[in-house]
Amino acid sequence: MKPIILDGKKLAKEIEEQLKLRVTKLKEKTGIVPNLAIILIGIDPASETYIKMKSNICERVGVKMTLIRLSEISTTEYVINKIRDCNNSIDINGILLQHPLPKQIDEGKCFREISLGKDVDGLNPSSDFKCATPLGIITLLKHYNIEIESKEAVVVGRSRILGKPMAMMLLEENATVTICHSKTKDLPEIIKRADILVAAIGNPKFIQGEWIKGGAVVVDAGYNSGNVGDVDLEKAIKKCSAYTPVPGGVGPMTIISLVGQVIDAAEKL
Ligand code: NAP
Repeated sequence: MKPIILDGKKLAKEIEEQLKLRVTKLKEKTGIVPNLAIILIGIDPASETYIKMKSNICERVGVKMTLIRLSEISTTEYVINKIRDCNNSIDINGILLQHPLPKQIDEGKCFREISLGKDVDGLNPSSDFKCATPLGIITLLKHYNIEIESKEAVVVGRSRILGKPMAMMLLEENATVTICHSKTKDLPEIIKRADILVAAIGNPKFIQGEWIKGGAVVVDAGYNSGNVGDVDLEKAIKKCSAYTPVPGGVGPMTIISLVGQVIDAAEKL
């Protein structure tokens, strides 16, 4: 049987229409236009692309985006001061610190500085919001009625922005979750157990089709140059029951989830 395509692009477009209505209503009722501040440190072509994508969606939905560009040689203290300015600004509803950060920056310290009510990327574990990429993935799985409860889920990758919060959200949905990383032994054997596999590594086509369990749901969050994910999808498609395409799967869901949370933040005022 042909696998289901978990079409993030299509679902994000549907959600976009709902968000537009919410922004219009909010503006009419309160005069508030939700505003997302993005702090970008240094020059990174991939980050520029992601920011352009975010800016396009913000514009279509009616959310303002304020881009704050900082120099590559910024110190942690300098970045924290900028975050504090955004925390204190009544015009800013959401703050996003664009990943990856230069090596000299203490990432955890900066993320923890973002005020919980403005942490729309959900990077602080105590944030009022959820981490955007895993939230987008869960929304996508639910939209396609993918059962999560009691399933064996394997997340490959344990980053603060993706792997870890993804594992926690799957756990909250009552999956049995295994987290794998670069020191994991027998990765193929663990992946072979997965009813739901989330690949979040950043290594093109690293996960082989032969490792996929028959009927598994494959979520490929990886986004590598050449528009390829972390899974060898061509081969995986022959075995899985559903999969996210790359591009057009996880990426659009991440951005729409983020923008949705900026609107949530503005509505709470
Ligand atoms: P990251 O911070 O570099 O983390 C990568 C993770 O993969 C680490 O936990 C690392 O393990 C693990 N890993 C590396 N090599 C491995 C191996 N051989 N076997 C098993 N695990 C391995 O990356 P990230 O920020 O989470 O991003 C991961 C991917 O997702 C990238 O392609 C990124 O572009 C993409 N992404 C996409 C979206 C989207 O919206 N589509 C959003 C965010 C990220 P260690 O912890 O042991 O080093």
